[in-house]
Amino acid sequence: MKLEKYLEILPKSLWVTTCNSGSCNGCDIEIVATISPRYDIERLGMKLVGTPRHADVLIVTGPVTKFMKEKLLRIYNQMPDPKAVVVVGNCGASGDVFYKSYNLEGPVDRIIPVDVFVHGCPPRPEAIIEGVAKAVLKLERLRGDLQKAGEGQ
Ligand code: SF4
Repeated sequence: MKLEKYLEILPKSLWVTTCNSGSCNGCDIEIVATISPRYDIERLGMKLVGTPRHADVLIVTGPVTKFMKEKLLRIYNQMPDPKAVVVVGNCGASGDVFYKSYNLEGPVDRIIPVDVFVHGCPPRPEAIIEGVAKAVLKLERLRGDLQKAGEGQ
């Protein structure tokens, strides 16, 4: 599906937070580029927020070091339902060049459920924006499920 199609079904502004679980910062710089004037993710209704308690989507970069495992879990658990997780970069998806490191607990899907993988080292801002937009599909399904559960009570 093309990016425009995802955005057509965007029901409301998506609030996004990030966690660097031990990346080299390459992916994080590309995330910064998505909020800078050239790509300006906010014009698409996606807003970066500073606390997981306000976020619909968690973007994770890095392969999850031992030091970051508990912190990543805490961030995930602080987010209200429905929520979605987008992994940005090859490190978070597979460990990539750090795969055999003694210091890894990841990749990310060993620690928390992942909905969308955005591959690349690092991925371009267009791919990151598309990855976040894909998370909309999961959020919509979860909202529907929660609504049905509420009606059944
Ligand atoms: S995927 Fe590449 S740019 Fe991203 S954290 Fe890993 S090594 Fe760095």
